[in-house]
Amino acid sequence: MDKVFLPTKYVKDLFSIDYKMLKEKKKKYLLFDLDNTIGSLLEDVPNDQIRKLFTSLKKDFVVVIISNNFKKRVKSYGDKLEVDYYYLAMKPLGRVIRKIRRKYHCENKDMVLIGDQLVTDIYLGNRMKIDTILVDPIHPKEMKITSINRFIEGRILKKYKSKGWLERGKYHA
Ligand SMILES: [Mg+2]
Repeated sequence: MDKVFLPTKYVKDLFSIDYKMLKEKKKKYLLFDLDNTIGSLLEDVPNDQIRKLFTSLKKDFVVVIISNNFKKRVKSYGDKLEVDYYYLAMKPLGRVIRKIRRKYHCENKDMVLIGDQLVTDIYLGNRMKIDTILVDPIHPKEMKITSINRFIEGRILKKYKSKGWLERGKYHA
């Protein structure tokens, strides 16, 4: 198995990301997954910590939510965080990235994709040559489709661990 599921960077959560470094690397667009990256499935709205983080991020970046979930949930987060959002994004298909590129007249190298899943978020980023940041899922509760993804992810992680490439809980500096 090759490195198509390997993130550029792996950290614990959104609060552990070195945004200053992303800015220095001239990254302008932060594309965040929603479920278990920004909020757990137990939360219908963003919590205070996330609101505060996003308020500060919006000063330096264009922040976008890209989620495979339905409109109601994604809109709720997008509206409350006052950021652009794409629901039913069908990650890992590239359609959502092409939409964003057309809307903002930007290039893939200007973007960073942040998410908790290898087979949707990270795979999409790698296929589109977008830098990726993997985070740990916030909470064990997941959508049914995600448990299938996690099964596949488990097999990938086993392989990656044996190669010394990636292991959950062993965060990058
Ligand atoms: Mg997710």
